[in-house]
Amino acid sequence: MKVLIADDNAMSRLTLRAQLKKWGYEVVEAIDGDAAWSILSMPDTPRLAILDWMMPGLDGPELCRRVRAQGQEPYLYLILLTGREGRDDVVAGLDAGADDYVTKPFDAQELRVRVRAGERICGLQEELVSARESLRYEATHDHLTGAWNRAAILDALERERARAARASSQLSVAMIDFDHFKRINDMYGHVVGDAVLKEGIGRIRAALRSRDMVGRYGGEEFLAVLPGCDAEGASSVCERVRGAVAAEPIRVGDYRIHATVSIGAAAWSGLPDASEIVDRADAALYRAKHGGRDRVELAPNAANDRHGPLHDPRRVTGTDDGGR
Ligand code: GH3
Ligand code: MG
Ligand code: MG
Repeated sequence: MKVLIADDNAMSRLTLRAQLKKWGYEVVEAIDGDAAWSILSMPDTPRLAILDWMMPGLDGPELCRRVRAQGQEPYLYLILLTGREGRDDVVAGLDAGADDYVTKPFDAQELRVRVRAGERICGLQEELVSARESLRYEATHDHLTGAWNRAAILDALERERARAARASSQLSVAMIDFDHFKRINDMYGHVVGDAVLKEGIGRIRAALRSRDMVGRYGGEEFLAVLPGCDAEGASSVCERVRGAVAAEPIRVGDYRIHATVSIGAAAWSGLPDASEIVDRADAALYRAKHGGRDRVELAPNAANDRHGPLHDPRRVTGTDDGGR
């Protein structure tokens, strides 16, 4: 583990360095408070710092305050090194954000156990952060495919819609549905079906641009958010996605399974309601299914579409053939 020593006294640094190295720590040194601050502000800074109280430039407590004000992650464990023993000084040091303090001249064994305690806290904090990250991942991703989940992709859509409104930029979405997926399950079983979905979504992600996001909307239906895309752009991205899935059979064990997707795309019309664009993409998907599947359909421009999603043929005719 890397430890920062910040002390303007060369002798003091030498003694500290020798001890820390003996205990197996890698040492980084700063000769005053300003140098310490620039090291502590770097992304890969040591997680544990021993800071002299009195230094030219920034002193130890001021460094502590700055580090805490930054709210840095991972957590930096700060030990103040002080010749002062007065109770008020200790309180002031801890109040400034130090985790612990050691009085000079330090007792080597005491310093060792205090540094070890700091190392333990850093380790625990790291575990907490990674537990929190994995919870956050699970809360926002689909377990099977690794795509965003429905709530997360709808959040992303709302964010992108607001951004597009602010920047007067384009935005499109695509509703992507695997064709006759029930047949794939019926023919090969659900486990193979799962593998086809996984590989299929892998192909979809590879065909999308890096700014695009895709999430599992439900079952074998995925919603892609395409920032910066007008209808024409969306149409070409979707065509690439469609082609990538259909290009060659998906291999699962000895099976070679020909999977295809139908896609309905819609360009954002400028309306403040993000669900409107999803409805139009969904209606376009319905047409892609009825048009023979393995194809892309573009929603008519909302402004010219007098019928709009309320006149979705499913609702007018009661047709139940879409099967989605
Ligand atoms: P269409 O071309 O009209 O979309 O036909 P379809 O068979 O794909 O549509 P339908 O909605 O009738 O059936 C969807 C099927 O997708 C049924 C469901 O069991 C399957 N499915 C949904 N999620 C999963 C999954 O996570 N794993 C597997 N293996 N199958 C899934
Ligand atoms: Mg389907
Ligand atoms: Mg479906």
